[in-house]
Amino acid sequence: LWNDACQHLKQTLSKDVFEKWIAVIQCRKIDHDQVILVVGNDFYQSWLEEHYLPLIKNALALVSGQTYDIQLVVDYSLASEQEEQPDTAENVKEKVRSILPQKRGTKETKTNLNSNYTFDSFVVGPSNQFAHAAAMASAQSPSRAYNPLFIYGGVGLGKTHLMQAIGNFILSKKGKGKVCYTTSEAFLNEYIEALQTNSLAKFRKKYRTVDALLIDDIHFLAGKERLQEEFFHTFNAIFENHKQIVMTSDRPAGELEGLAPRLVSRFEWGLVVEMESPDVETRVAILRKKSEQLKLSIEQNLLFYIAERISSNIRRLEGALIRVASYISLTGQSMDMGKLEYLLRDTLDQEKKHAISVENIQKTVAEHFDLRVGDLLGRKRTQNIAWPRQVAMYLSRDMTNLSFPSIGDSFGRNHATVVHACKTVEKEQTTDLKLRQTLSLLRQRAGHQSAQTV
Ligand code: ADP
Ligand code: MG
Repeated sequence: LWNDACQHLKQTLSKDVFEKWIAVIQCRKIDHDQVILVVGNDFYQSWLEEHYLPLIKNALALVSGQTYDIQLVVDYSLASEQEEQPDTAENVKEKVRSILPQKRGTKETKTNLNSNYTFDSFVVGPSNQFAHAAAMASAQSPSRAYNPLFIYGGVGLGKTHLMQAIGNFILSKKGKGKVCYTTSEAFLNEYIEALQTNSLAKFRKKYRTVDALLIDDIHFLAGKERLQEEFFHTFNAIFENHKQIVMTSDRPAGELEGLAPRLVSRFEWGLVVEMESPDVETRVAILRKKSEQLKLSIEQNLLFYIAERISSNIRRLEGALIRVASYISLTGQSMDMGKLEYLLRDTLDQEKKHAISVENIQKTVAEHFDLRVGDLLGRKRTQNIAWPRQVAMYLSRDMTNLSFPSIGDSFGRNHATVVHACKTVEKEQTTDLKLRQTLSLLRQRAGHQSAQTV
């Protein structure tokens, strides 16, 4: 069925498009009304979803006479498969071997690592150089450099990439150890499954005997007590074995509401590093690197244009690049600023929403509390000023990708003051409905203001 649909697509699409976007899809499963398609990376997934899903659906409907619900999933191992050479006798043997169940006791475990996420493909700039250096050190001498290594920062800033680079690096060394990468969510699912199937011992063995555990998006543990309990023991076992633990989170452990204090303190035993939004030079460098990897040729000035306008999220930056490159390859037309602007309009809109500055927040908050911005920046500590100041700090942290120290700078305070302010407001709002409403109003206003000024 899938092959038939492909044939149909082949006829309707240009050769270029077909090869670039359709031929790379694998059909994993067809149920009575659902088709699961697999691609090798996120780019393909999002691009296909946005542009070709209706076409694919159509083609499937045409050849089968029924409509299917299509799910596009990413399987990173596919990406490397696709780079393999054509089948030779040796290749085939190897493939068959890899499909057969592994013999008990073999050292290979599935690592879930994306082989593209390496140190080589990671662009270093001021926003991530500390995190990068720490990750390198941990990769080079696991458990002896920083243990645990705790990397935190906003969405799409490269946490997962860096973490997996550690894993890939360790695996690339001779006498490689056992590396396990998982997200906290996958860890939870496996844990539940182990409980249901009475295989807790196996689950524990798997996680507690690794040489390096890379556990992504640990903020997911917040508020899940039982899971935290299990992870606590996993952590201790690995740590006591002198093995490496690397974690990522969207914020510092101490800021995670509903994380047991004993975990917070453990997460801070080693080194805690923050990843920030990249500056424009780094963004250009990332775009260059990605276009090399994807073998896209895009003019430099277009790369600059994209880098200048998309600053909050590297994933979004990549998405824009892919979109532009696809346009060029699909239409064969050259790109100019006008077209670029049109092509990226949605992304740029989202960006504007994100381009919220601390100044705007200060202005909004001062207005709301009937103060001057100068009051917020001044030294006075009376409650009628101190509280609005804390609210402004909290919102700055919440609405921008800025680090505590840089927010501190904007208020003429140090980073600890901002951390304290954020904690205070965070805590207060869990019980104070009125405050929550105020915050939401202020968020709206601050967002609105910057949309106008950008
Ligand atoms: P996070 O886990 O912080 O949400 P990811 O690690 O998933 O972010 O990064 C999002 C995308 O941006 C990935 O495709 C990643 O390869 C890319 N990326 C992030 N930082 C860099 C960097 N410094 N150099 C190259 N690519 C990067
Ligand atoms: Mg991530």
